Amino acid sequence: MQGDYQRHIDRLNELGADAYPARLPDDIATADGLVIPGGESTTIGKLIGRYGVDKAILAAHADGKPIYGTCAGMIVLAKEIAEGTEESGGQAKLGILDITVARNAFGRQIDSFECVLDAPKITGDTGTPLTAVFIRAPIVTRVGNGVEVIAKHDDDIVFIRQGNVIASSFHPELTDDTRVHQYFLSLLNER
Ligand code: GLN
Repeated sequence: MQGDYQRHIDRLNELGADAYPARLPDDIATADGLVIPGGESTTIGKLIGRYGVDKAILAAHADGKPIYGTCAGMIVLAKEIAEGTEESGGQAKLGILDITVARNAFGRQIDSFECVLDAPKITGDTGTPLTAVFIRAPIVTRVGNGVEVIAKHDDDIVFIRQGNVIASSFHPELTDDTRVHQYFLSLLNER
């Protein structure tokens, strides 16, 4: 609907998946998994509500289909948005992930940057660290029971998993590092 979906589609197809853009509820009902891209979470939240895509995502989740939210996608999946970082009037949230996120948490000075992150679950203990691109990114300020932290940037939680749902503050689709998408596809294969 909005945001950086085409690069996710390209990455997943390079890895042998059959990825396509999902705009309507049926596109999600027929898929084995779903990526909610980065972009603008307020806009994505409004659009998914308008077209009934929110209900299709909740149904996919209830079915156990793997879901991956990047950046704005992480915000849309969250149960709670930290006070002061929410748009006035509230913001549509799916509430699938038992986390609190603070939007635009890195501030104006450094609203975009690239770095490397340790994430042994994705890279193995001896693999090179993940390359991560952050763009006006959120951080996770609270995790509920059953939420596993996959990576931190300094002390900030930026990559989590809860059941078959993963979410990252950063954009792996903007790098040549395909390991996060491989990990997502491994969840689909397991299912
Ligand atoms: N700042 C955006 C938001 O709050 C997210 C940015 C992104 O997805 N790269 O929705």
